[in-house]
Amino acid sequence: MRTQVGIVGSGPSGLLLAQILAQQGIESIIVENRSREYVEARVRAGVIEHGAVDVLTRAGVGDRLHREGLRHDGVHLQWPGERRRIDFVDACGQSVWVYGQTEITKDLINIRVSDGQQIHWEASDTAIVGADTDHPQITFVDVDGKPQTVECDYVAGCDGFHGASRPTIPESVRSVAQRVYPFAWLGILAEVAPSTDELIYAWHPDGFAMHSMRSDKVSRLYLQVAPDDDIANWSDDRIWDGLSTRMALDGWTLQSGPTLEKSITPMRSFVSSPMRWGRLFLAGDASHIVPPTGAKGLNLAIADVTKLGAALAMAIQQGKVDLIDSYSDDALRRVWQSTHFSWWMTSMLHTPPSADPDAAFLRQMQITQLDYVTSSTAAAAGLAENYTGAVLPY
Ligand SMILES: Cc1cc2nc3c(=O)[nH]c(=O)nc-3n(C[C@H](O)[C@H](O)[C@H](O)COP(=O)(O)OP(=O)(O)OC[C@H]3O[C@@H](n4cnc5c(N)ncnc54)[C@H](O)[C@@H]3O)c2cc1C
Repeated sequence: MRTQVGIVGSGPSGLLLAQILAQQGIESIIVENRSREYVEARVRAGVIEHGAVDVLTRAGVGDRLHREGLRHDGVHLQWPGERRRIDFVDACGQSVWVYGQTEITKDLINIRVSDGQQIHWEASDTAIVGADTDHPQITFVDVDGKPQTVECDYVAGCDGFHGASRPTIPESVRSVAQRVYPFAWLGILAEVAPSTDELIYAWHPDGFAMHSMRSDKVSRLYLQVAPDDDIANWSDDRIWDGLSTRMALDGWTLQSGPTLEKSITPMRSFVSSPMRWGRLFLAGDASHIVPPTGAKGLNLAIADVTKLGAALAMAIQQGKVDLIDSYSDDALRRVWQSTHFSWWMTSMLHTPPSADPDAAFLRQMQITQLDYVTSSTAAAAGLAENYTGAVLPY
């Protein structure tokens, strides 16, 4: 097989890149190691920045998002006895949209399949060969067990944190900065109408809790747990009790409902740079991971491929390499900004383990920070412009 851009991974970054390229008449082939059903059912992010909504709309996949997505103009921050709202529109003139990553993925797969473009599902043994030459290839074994080779002009590594792309870049070229947090998120998807109109981020001595949603019938809720905790330790009753305690507020009740999905996700910040080696370009989780507190992972993936799509189009159609040469530095600027914001939100909201000798001091610092960010116009604007993505245009 031969294509202009070979793409490894059909998560949001790979699918959106393929669509941005297709709109400009550039061919691509996607190689994905899971089945279409698995990819479409994978529950993950759900808060989309203002600029990311614009990108998806321009890419031709905004119709359902605008019809079914929920626009949120603010967010609630809470600690015992207090729930305060930050108004994004007042603070920075932008909003965010709540629309599941699963839905974005389905929209992108549908448009690709209906355009007759290729996705090789259930590939195994994916490898990128010759990335530092002018003739890179993606090799894999297809769903029928046949070895395949895709000859490419460029390769985009969009295969997430555990994919094959990042390890293709020699360790002597890569540098990694990371922080592993001493807690994890237990997340549930529940068949119950949200008990709130906008997201609630709650600090509590027992640990952080969060109320998000996917639609007006489905809620998404999270609890801070120990990183080595086991989901088997958490019955549905225990989860709902924990959520009710940590988000309790006089005059407000958390409605519970059947749990559709539950899992524990460890939390880390991770950045591997550069995001390019020869003709291989990394995008999304293949290159960086943020803790979910700032709702940035999916948005960063969208921002990366917006830049990469424009850069590859310029190189392929006009022979100009300026944008592919600056892609890594350009993308990393936003990556580091989002990494900082996600780390800051995580540090403000997650109670330190009680074994931490500074725990009492740190907890008081967190409450003081929450009080400040919800009472100072300038501090609220700082949170709002980072949360909505207004701080750096796409
Ligand atoms: C449990 C969980 C919850 C999250 N919650 C949030 C949230 O609330 N807010 C937020 O902003 N972000 C969240 N994130 C992060 C967000 O989902 C990711 O940042 C986003 O999925 C990145 O998209 P991507 O396309 O770069 O990577 P991925 O979505 O990981 O897609 C990579 C694709 O590559 C495929 N692949 C992997 N290896 C190979 C291989 N060797 N060959 C071929 N294909 C391969 C994978 O199957 C996958 O389809 C969450 C992540 C997880 C795991």
